[in-house]
Order: sequence, then structure tokens, then C-alpha cells
Amino acid sequence: MLIDSKYISDNDMKQINKNTRKNFTRDDIYAFEITLCDSELDADYEAISKDCLYKLKDLSLGSSGFLTSDIMARIFDTYIEKVFISRSNSILAEETYKLKAKAYVFKNAITEEELNHILNHPEISVGFSVKRRVCSICGSSECSKHIKGQKYVDEAGIKQLCYNLLNDPTDFYEWSVVPKQQESKSNDNKPKENKVAIVKTKLMINGKLTDVKLDGNGGITIIKPEKKPTGWERAKGETYIYCGASLIGQHIDSARTEDDNAYNRANYFSDEKLCENIYRMQQIQRKLFRWQAENDKPIDLHSNCQKWIIVDDYEFGIEIVDYYKIGYGFMPVFSSLEKAEDCVKTFKNELIWLFAEFKWREKLKVAA
Ligand SMILES: [Zn+2]
Repeated sequence: MLIDSKYISDNDMKQINKNTRKNFTRDDIYAFEITLCDSELDADYEAISKDCLYKLKDLSLGSSGFLTSDIMARIFDTYIEKVFISRSNSILAEETYKLKAKAYVFKNAITEEELNHILNHPEISVGFSVKRRVCSICGSSECSKHIKGQKYVDEAGIKQLCYNLLNDPTDFYEWSVVPKQQESKSNDNKPKENKVAIVKTKLMINGKLTDVKLDGNGGITIIKPEKKPTGWERAKGETYIYCGASLIGQHIDSARTEDDNAYNRANYFSDEKLCENIYRMQQIQRKLFRWQAENDKPIDLHSNCQKWIIVDDYEFGIEIVDYYKIGYGFMPVFSSLEKAEDCVKTFKNELIWLFAEFKWREKLKVAA
């Protein structure tokens, strides 16, 4: 549900701007509310415990999610909503809990109409990991006696369903909106069956982005990934690509020992573009380290002085953050925000390439 901008509080804006370098205003963003997950039993006979839901409330704060395959939003507020559900098999309304999240997306990424369409009864998929799954019958996390989905008669003679309660979440990876079936935009009177389009998309399943087919009736089939070449394969007999002294070199693969040498040094590619990418990425890295050494003071990585590091922020491209927020990522660390900004200015184009275009696999045309 879209949140009217007049209901976006100053505190909300503060939360939104907490991890951004520029200060954004209500005019820059759309805010909306979604239900991430709840304590209801799912089709796999698993349910998230109330305690687990409260922990996920903290873990999911600040996390990013896919609204579509290429538009991301970020959560800036989370809370738990208690609801009462009346079930047909019980006269008492049952307490259940929902993890709600408020998220924002930039207006330049999406129109209000598109966002409203996405948020019209969205199905949300979340990826998180838990330390313990507890059997609902015996309370053991290592139960081997009871099977999920089966019923067992308890001491009072009442049949109880066995399910797993998820406890102790360790990580919250990501959330995404499950795309709705594509509606047929044509106005012709096709039979109804034809309008149920099979949509191929990606879903977060157990924290992994997975290719799935949605059949429009709520059915989801996981598409088994075909093994795509990565560009790092051993060439079958002929040539391989390597970064030689003169930038990119091409080498005829005849001497096996040399082949092993290049392969073991990870300087062996079946794809030329990949080879170029890796070389360029490492060159930028070396330039950044040299710039830091020549222009900034030495920094003890293990001391608790404030440090700055350049990172990729998918929202704005280049971002400089306080070192403690993310940890060391094989990039030089700067003693001040100003030094880091100087460095960004010096290597702006390279950094933009690094963050926006650099790939170490996927979508590469692989040499035969
Ligand atoms: Zn059990």
C-alpha cells in the first residue's frame, strides 16, 4: 500500500537518509507498506515463531528488495502487527502476528501507476536463515520421530498436526515482490485459458535467487538451472585467453604445463571479455591503493579510528561510507571523507565502470 507523502514523518525521512549521502526529501521518494511474513503455517508445514518474527523485525530493517527484476526498494521501518483470525475449526479467535515493513523507492525509478499496480495485493517472498527448526509435537530441534504434515494423537486423545517452528533467525537476505501473472493487453476475445500466461521470473527461495515458472493459477515450478559457461572454463583443446604483459594476450594451448600454470594463477579464461574485465578491475584496484599510499596517511585497519571506504551503492553509483558500516572489502581505506572524495574525483569514470559494469561471469559470449 502506497503511503501518502503527508504521512511520511520527519522521523521516517531521518531513517531513509541514515544510509544515504545526499539528503532526500519527500518529493524524491515513494514510501509504501508491505507485509513481509507472518506466523501462519505455510504449505511446507513450517511456521515462523513469534519470537523469530520479532528478531526478523530487526534483521530486515534496512534490507533491500526487488519490486521488479530491476527496481529495488529499501526498508526503513518495521513493526509487528497482532491480528486475530477466526478459524472454522475453533470458536476462539486465534492470535497471529505479521511482520510489516515500510519501504521506499526513488521516484525516478518507477511511476506511481506502476508502483500501485505492483502493490495491489502483492505477494512477498523473503529469504532468511534460521538456526533451529523445532518439532511442534515434542519441541525437539532434532526430532526424528515425527513427520511434518502428519497428525499424532496426544495424551488427551486429541489429534495434533506436526509442523516445524522456525526459531533463532541468523540472517535476513532479501525480500522481493512476486510478480503477478502477466495480463493480456490485447482486446480481442481470446478464450480465457489463453490469457493465463506462464511467466518465467526469479524468486528468492531460501535466500537464493531462483528461476521459476508461474502458471497464473498460483502454481510455482522451479526451473532447473542449465549450466551456463562462466568464462573461466578450460578451453577444450584450442586456445585460452590470459592477461599477458601487453594487456590481453592470446595463447595457443599446446604445452600442458604452461596451461596448468596459467590456470592455477587464475589467469586463464575461455572468454576474452571476461579476461579484459578482470584485468581492468584489478588495475583500478591497484591504482586506488597507490593513490591512497601517495596521498593519504597510513591507516591501521585494526585500530578504532574512523576510516572511510568507497563502496558501490546501487542507488547512486558511488558511495563513501564509514568503514565500520561494512567491513573491509579489498579496497583502500581513507583517513577522512575528504580524502575518499578526492580519490573518487580522480577515478570517477573507472569507479563508475567498476560498480555499474564490471562482471566476473554471466551474460558473456564464450569463445568456442
Ligand atoms: Zn517431534
